[in-house]
Amino acid sequence: MLLEDKVCLVTGSSRGIGRAIAKRFAEEGAIVYASARNIDSLASLVDEAAAEDVAGKIIAISLDVCDELQCKEAMMLIKKNRGRLDVLVNNAGIMKDALIGMINKALMEESFETNVYGPINLIQLASKLMKRQGCGSIINLSSIVGTEGNKNQVVYSATKGAVASLTKSAAKELAEYGIRVNAVAPGIIDTDLFRAAKEKETEKMIESIRLGRLGQPIDVANVCVFFASDLSLYVSGQILGVDGIISI
Ligand code: NDP
Repeated sequence: MLLEDKVCLVTGSSRGIGRAIAKRFAEEGAIVYASARNIDSLASLVDEAAAEDVAGKIIAISLDVCDELQCKEAMMLIKKNRGRLDVLVNNAGIMKDALIGMINKALMEESFETNVYGPINLIQLASKLMKRQGCGSIINLSSIVGTEGNKNQVVYSATKGAVASLTKSAAKELAEYGIRVNAVAPGIIDTDLFRAAKEKETEKMIESIRLGRLGQPIDVANVCVFFASDLSLYVSGQILGVDGIISI
């Protein structure tokens, strides 16, 4: 029980990596506020956890990370019901590919609002609660393209590069309050986000991964358990690749 009774908020938990994180955290005994824009999309996760009788608890909440008011209300709900927040996972994200010449302002705004402004806003809100406790762990989802770049992904890679740098800055600023901030940088993880954009290229992509397979959401979730737990109490400001050694 690495996360026994830890109160956690995981954004974008309706599918893919966020869903796996919420489930793994609950298996480790956490009280997990699993969020997505549409609360109905979380029903199967809650039912699955209940059927499997996981040690912790999953509570579904509706939260659009681009909506400042909803973020504030979610944090107030957690404060009212639990009095604390131990872990924030900024997982919600979108990937919209566009070649140079095809990028428009709406795409840039949507991408930065979801992948960068949302996490910064939630870090501000969560750290207020965590400062009072004198401890907390914030985990952000970056990406290998945030450091390596990729064709078609000027905007997406810029958002994920921003996530890596904001992680390092927030870690430096919040360390004195006992708050740790780390990021995971997945390579190619087999989720809807990957399949919608790149499924046709799967074989070619596997050839570029030295461990010989696509990543699974659970591979990322297990690393998040480490960052969320007291096993990583002396680790902050790190960007950990979860990519099976990929060349892009
Ligand atoms: P999915 O598309 O499978 O899931 C994305 C999740 O984010 C959904 O639960 C969706 O919920 C939620 N979401 C999207 N926009 C918002 C929003 N505005 N507010 C709240 N929730 C939102 O993505 P993945 O699981 O693949 O990706 C998760 C994270 O990992 C992302 O940040 C992504 O950039 C990152 N990543 C993924 C990689 C991959 O190969 N899959 C590689 C590297 C990084 P709903 O639409 O129901 O609201």
